[in-house]
Amino acid sequence: MRLLGAHLSIAGGVSKSIERGVSLGCAAIQIFTGFSNRWHSKPIPDEQLCAFRQQRDRLKVIFAHNNYLINLASPEPVISSRSYESMLEEMERAQALGLPYLVIHPGSHLGRGEEEGLRAVAQHLNSLFADTRGSCLRILLETTAGQGSNLGYRFEHLAKIISSVHSPERVGICFDTCHVFAAGYDLRTQQGYEKTFLEFDRLIGTSAIFAFHLNDSKYELGSRKDRHEHIGQGLLGMEAFRLLLNDERFAHVPMVIETPKGKGGFSGGLSEDKRNLAVLRSLIITEAFPSLPDESL
Ligand code: MN
Ligand code: MN
Ligand code: ZN
Repeated sequence: MRLLGAHLSIAGGVSKSIERGVSLGCAAIQIFTGFSNRWHSKPIPDEQLCAFRQQRDRLKVIFAHNNYLINLASPEPVISSRSYESMLEEMERAQALGLPYLVIHPGSHLGRGEEEGLRAVAQHLNSLFADTRGSCLRILLETTAGQGSNLGYRFEHLAKIISSVHSPERVGICFDTCHVFAAGYDLRTQQGYEKTFLEFDRLIGTSAIFAFHLNDSKYELGSRKDRHEHIGQGLLGMEAFRLLLNDERFAHVPMVIETPKGKGGFSGGLSEDKRNLAVLRSLIITEAFPSLPDESL
């Protein structure tokens, strides 16, 4: 069984995301626990927490994604501290929901340089872990496409942050296929796929991957542009997803789509997700017969 799913809306209350996930046949979902484009969101009201907890077990894995404003690598003191406060709120909401992971983008250095930026991210993470001692929420650093001054488009960046964090059990990686491809790592052929994961394994370790974002890419290999495309309809193509969905190393790692939601409001969005998930499921090679135990030979 593969832990396939989608990024889903919490409109109408956070437990609604579970209902949407169930209706799509998801095993895993990713959610924003507040506004995706604001610094501040209120704590989740008790009755919503309650409804969420009651429905929680209908899915295998539910995890969160940060709001888009947070930049832990910012050289601006005001933005830096606002990002820190906003991160604490994100962590508290994820914790209140009992979620295992919170995905974040490493951040943009905005001219201060990559090394300085990476150092700032690690320092912030160390303080955040100290400020949330006792929590087992794991922060997943997302691989990025490397647009502008975004950090995290080289596996070395992520390795550097992880090695600078004092609580390795509280960090991990979210591997985004569109971003990695746009950053210049080829996944389109078996050879490219193996080379990319060999490199990843050498620098970080594939066991540090706790989530995948499955997205095709509108732009070419190494374009450094972050534009998602429907599965199999972009320049990454179907083979990368086939390899990933049949890679035993990732059999228990949640994989969610962040593909375009399409027009037609929310119902339109769900039908697009449904189609992309069906495409992905069709790539999973299932054994027709269970293999015989060794002693029967
Ligand atoms: Mn992301
Ligand atoms: Mn992503
Ligand atoms: Zn993206």
